[in-house]
Formats: sequence, structure tokens, C-alpha cells
Amino acid sequence: MAVSRASEPAAEVSPQVLETVRRIWGFDGLRPLQAEAIAASLADRDSLTVLPTGGGKSLCYQVPPMVAGRTDVVVSPLIALMKDQVDALRAVGYPAAALHSGLAPEERMRVNEGLRDGRFRLLFIAPERVLHPWFIDQARRLGVRAFAIDEAHCISAWGHDFRPEYRRLAELRDHFPAANFHAFTATATPQVREDIVAQLRLREPQVLVGTFDRPNLVYRVLPKVDVERQVIEVLRRHAGEAAIVYCLSRKDTERLAAVLNANGVSASHYHAGMDADARHRVQDDFSLERLDVVCATVAFGMGIDRSNVRCVIHAAMPKSIEAYQQETGRAGRDGLEAECVLFYSAGDAIKWDQLMQRSVRESQMPPEDQQLYLDAQLGLLGRMRAFASTAGCRHRTLSQYFGQQYPSDDCGACDVCLHEVNTVPDSTTIAQKILSAVARTQQRFGVKHIVAVLRGGDTEMIRKYNHQSLSVHGLMRDVPAKKLTAMVYQLIDLDLLALAADMPTLVLNQRSLDVMKGRLDVMLVEPGDARETRTGDDEAMDYDHGLADRLRELRKNLAAERDAPAYTVFDDRTLRALAAIRPTRKDTLARVHGIGEQRLADLGDLLLETITDYCQAQQLETDQLAEAPIARPKREAKISLAKQEAFRLFAQGVGVEEVAQALARARSTTMGYLSEFIAEHKPASVTPWVAPEVYEQVRAAASDPELQLGDGRLRPLFDHFEGRIGFDELRIILTHLATQ
Ligand code: ADP
Ligand code: ZN
Repeated sequence: MAVSRASEPAAEVSPQVLETVRRIWGFDGLRPLQAEAIAASLADRDSLTVLPTGGGKSLCYQVPPMVAGRTDVVVSPLIALMKDQVDALRAVGYPAAALHSGLAPEERMRVNEGLRDGRFRLLFIAPERVLHPWFIDQARRLGVRAFAIDEAHCISAWGHDFRPEYRRLAELRDHFPAANFHAFTATATPQVREDIVAQLRLREPQVLVGTFDRPNLVYRVLPKVDVERQVIEVLRRHAGEAAIVYCLSRKDTERLAAVLNANGVSASHYHAGMDADARHRVQDDFSLERLDVVCATVAFGMGIDRSNVRCVIHAAMPKSIEAYQQETGRAGRDGLEAECVLFYSAGDAIKWDQLMQRSVRESQMPPEDQQLYLDAQLGLLGRMRAFASTAGCRHRTLSQYFGQQYPSDDCGACDVCLHEVNTVPDSTTIAQKILSAVARTQQRFGVKHIVAVLRGGDTEMIRKYNHQSLSVHGLMRDVPAKKLTAMVYQLIDLDLLALAADMPTLVLNQRSLDVMKGRLDVMLVEPGDARETRTGDDEAMDYDHGLADRLRELRKNLAAERDAPAYTVFDDRTLRALAAIRPTRKDTLARVHGIGEQRLADLGDLLLETITDYCQAQQLETDQLAEAPIARPKREAKISLAKQEAFRLFAQGVGVEEVAQALARARSTTMGYLSEFIAEHKPASVTPWVAPEVYEQVRAAASDPELQLGDGRLRPLFDHFEGRIGFDELRIILTHLATQ
């Protein structure tokens, strides 16, 4: 394929074209590649034009029929897009119409009439309608000889937005053998470009590819640690400026907007599940600069015409680089500096993986297409993941992805080139050690085993294969398993190590050999979540067996109460870690293996109480952290943001279920917030959460000196009521009684 680039001198522009552009749109001239695309259409030559969003693709198919006095057909995938374009064209006196399912009967009649009389220069139509026999008749009668296919990447299963109905567009070729076809897209890798040409059966097309790099955008990728707090930090840098925060789910947009508002950043949410009025309100407010911050799903963006967006944040990783380029492309359209921040966690990639598997399984696609499509989607996801998890210049990576060389080694406008990325010292040596472990074990094992070998583990597998005798055994004993695992995955992301096609087995590739021979340097990024040191990883921990028994007893009771298997309450590793460390303070407890945010809220008080009791009786030392406790402000901040919102709702008397739902938090976590709310804010009553008669029963029992239930412990009360009153309610009531 011969490809013209934007940097080549522009084609001669015919005076007629320029005159039309001036007269109708009032533009002084043409943008890069517009002249070439218009010339191709006027010369009846097929073309494929790839220009970034905002590059001016529409003009390329709007001008030719006007100049030639003919009617062209534009295939467009979205009704909203068609409507916007038709409105904009009518506003400048350009005769255009759209045929779609949303037309009122009288409108449809007007369009049909105009069509019959050949009054329109452009006719927009959806892909599934263009092959309708009625339409084909009309188009034949009008002598249509040019079709523009907008968003042409939708035709490719390798693209990020595959629409099977686009596949049939090639049939137009059979109905209109003399017509020429012009494909347009904003995002297409070289592979997708070739697919578009093949699928549409373009004939010796002129291929025009614009420049994708956006030099005024500064890209940053940060490990996602506490995304709410991190988003607020970025937005504070852009106070009073326009910003879009992209989230993965509708629920996320609502929650994040609520948290932002609670923190003094005024924001709205936007997603496709809202009614049309609400969506338009947000869009208008944003366009008219009455609103600066929108938390949105990918549904937000089409038709947004605000050129001074100074910041685009991805609170979750998008599913492809195409999507990322499109969404970040909404920043800095005025050419001034703007910032794009992506918060990355491997968990997002896993979520996408599952979503993709599910949506393909539930799709109407024929089975033979399903696997192809899924593989393509996962491939795109892998490229996005590699972009986010590695330390190459962002501008260069993006340019290369879209098939263009980036002219410099230092863009000066990304976190990597600005030296903000925390790289692992001796990355190359570490990579060599990992790769040689894969080599020495004959490329027959998965990530977990390789990590175990390098850390000098003594597992059954290691003994079975006698891997403790290898020189690589114990070579990286001092690196925590989580961190080492993250680095192995980075090597995969960097294409320096591969996973076998059909098995979860690590295998070497050509690039692995280059690294091992010292011909290729590696840069690894300090794994984000490995920074949190967790205690309790040590298997041979010295723990108190009496306390372990006590905890096992507690676990059994909780499991019975919840009708759930014991290990779901907490597993043995956690049990031993608890018996070894013996936490009596929340901050110590939070650092025990297996105690996350949810368990802390759910079981925290109970565990602390049990352990304190036991240790006092046995005169045991408590809070035995092997190293000085590391404060975890990030985690705490995350809790506190959601907590603030929870407190606000509790103060209005909102129920636990509703608050849990609004915050998308587990019920148990929300219960924990409620206890804290009661302790801190001392509300006069707890009737929104506990029935008054239950409250009264517990109060009476706890204050009855004969029953001896007044020491604040839950278990004796629970037993006293024979389980009729749950721990949650008891905790609320006791917390409240303590404030009176
Ligand atoms: P795309 O479809 O490639 O995303 P559009 O066709 O919507 O881009 O054009 C983006 C913006 O640029 C529009 O506001 C359009 O009016 C404007 N534009 C297009 N071509 C020119 C030009 N030659 N001169 C000035 N403005 C232009
Ligand atoms: Zn760079």
C-alpha cells in the first residue's frame, strides 16, 4: 500500500474546492490531507483516510458532492452522530439528510421527497439500512457513485469497535460496481488498515494517514493505589479548568462524582444509563462551561465540542490503545498544553478480560467468529496493558502503535522522559535472573513456580523436580513474592518473555535471548502494590498455639453463624499470623496477611477483643510486628473518602443497604462505617438502623448487673439472646450505649 503522510507537501487544491470551503464553511484553507482526500473522491479513486479525532475527516466527504453537484451516501454507525452532522450542515445551508429509525413520519416523508428530487448532496444512513432493497433502488435511480464509510475500523474484528453489520458493506460493491468507496477512521493500526482495505474490497486505494502524535499532551501513568484520593490530587492541579474522568462502570462514575463533591470538587456524572434529558444537561453544562468536571463512561465524548479540556484522567485502564488515544484526544484540542493521567492496576486488565469473555459468549456472533474476535480483543487489551505497565516513552509508544516513527528519544512530555517513573535499579540483571530460571527449568513451568524457585522455596513441585539443586534456586530470596511476580508479568508485557499458547507455561522468545546475552537493556517499573509490606508471608512462623485454638473456635462460630465455610471467614495463614503477631490495635491488625479493608471493618473489633482477652490472661506480648510498623496513609485516605460520604448519608438517616449501594461497598464495610459514625457523631438515636424494641432489649440486658453482660463484649450478649440478635445490631447498640 502506498501511504501518504501529513508531512508531505499538500496536493494542489483546485480553486473550486477552496471557493466552496470558503463560501459554505468560511474556512481559509484546508487541513493536512484534506486536499488529497477530496481530490481522490473527485477523481473517482477509492481511498482510506486515517486522521485523528478532530482532524477534519467530515469535510473530506462533504466537499466533493457539493463541488460535483451529485448525491453521495455516508454510512455512519450512530444515529446521534448523524443527527449532529445533519444539523450542523443545515445550519450552514448545506442540503443533507439522514435516514434512521428515529425519524418522525412527516420527517421521513420530507426526506423521501427530497431524495426523489435529488435535492440532497449528502445522505447519512446506518449500515444495516444501506443494503435494504428499497434504498438500493433509490440510490441507483439517483446514480449514486460515491460511498463514504465513516468509522471504518468498525469493519475489522482486529479493531476496537467491531460491528458485524459493517462486514456486509462490501455487498454494496456488487450493487454498485462502478461506484467508488472512501473509508474514514480516527484509529487504525496497520493491521486494521489492511483489513479495512480487504473487507471493503477497495481498489488500489489512495491511503492517507495523518499524524497521530499530540505534542501538547503530557502523558502520565501511575500505579493505582487509592484512586479517589489520586484523582482529587490531579484535579486540584487543574482547579477551575475543564477535566474529564473516565471510569469503567456506570456505578463508578456516580460514586466518584459523589466523592469529589464531598471533597469540594464540583463534578457531575455521565453514562448511557441516564435518561436523555439528564445526559443533555450534563453535556450542555460542560460545553457551555457551567460545569468543569465530569466523571463518565466512554459514552461521554462524542459530540463534545469543548476545546479547552486541560485534563483527562483514566480512573481505570481503557480496553485498548485506540480507546485511550480517542479519550485522551479530547484534551487540549486548542493546541495548548493539557495533561492525561492514567491510573493503572493489573486488576483492571483482569476485569476487562472477564468482561470480554462474557460479552463474546453472550453475543449473537457465529461461533467461528467468536474466538477470532475474542483473540483480537484480548490482543488489543494486552497492548494497552503493556503501554501502562512499562517504562517506554509514551509519545513514542503511541506513535509506533499507529504505525508511525517518533522522531526523538526524549519527548519531554511524558512521565518517562520527565524521569518521574520509579524504575527498579538493576532491572536488566533482575530480568536476566528471571529468564535464566525459566531456561534452567526447561520452559515447562508457570509464573508461580518460577517465583518459588527464585525465592528459594521448598514446595512439593520443587522437590519433585529437584529444583532446589539448581543454581537459580534462591537467587532472589530477598525479593517479596508479590513484587517478583509483578516483575515477571512486566517481562511478559514488554514482550521479553512469553506465555505458551495453550498452557500457563513461561517460554523464552528471541528477545529473551537478547536480554540474557546482554544485547538488550531492560527497564522495569517499581511495582505499585508491592510497596506495601505485608506481614505473615513467612510460612514457618512462630505462633502461639493456644491463641490459634481460640481463634479457630471463633472462626467456627462465625462460620456457623454465617452458614459459610470457615476459610472464607479467614484462612489458616491469617490465623497463624494473628497468633504470631497478636494485634490489639487496629493499625497492627491492618498489616496482618489476609486482613483487608473489608475484613478489618467486618471482624476487626471481634478479633481485637478476642486477642486482647487472651493475651491479658496469658500475659503475652502483643503487637509483635517483625519490623517497625509502616504507616499506610494511602489506604486510610481511601477509607476516609468513602467514609465521609457514608457519614453524610448516615447523618440523613439513610439505611445501611442504601449506603452500601450508593458507595458500592460491601455491607460489612458499611456496617463498620456506621459503628464509627455512631461513636464519633453520637446521634441521639439509632432507630434508622435498629428497631427500638431490639435496642431496648439489649440495653436492658447489658445494664442488668446480675447478667454480667455489661463489659462491652459482643459474644456473651449474642449467646444470651441465643443468636436472635445479630452481631451487627449488637455492635451498633453497644457503640451507641457507650456514647450515652
Ligand atoms: P473528525 O471527524 O476528523 O473528528 P471533524 O470533521 O469533526 O473532525 O472536524 C473537527 C473540527 O475541525 C470541526 O469543528 C471542523 O469544523 C473543523 N475543521 C475541519 N476542517 C477545517 C479546516 N479546513 N479549517 C478549519 N477548521 C476545520
Ligand atoms: Zn516521552
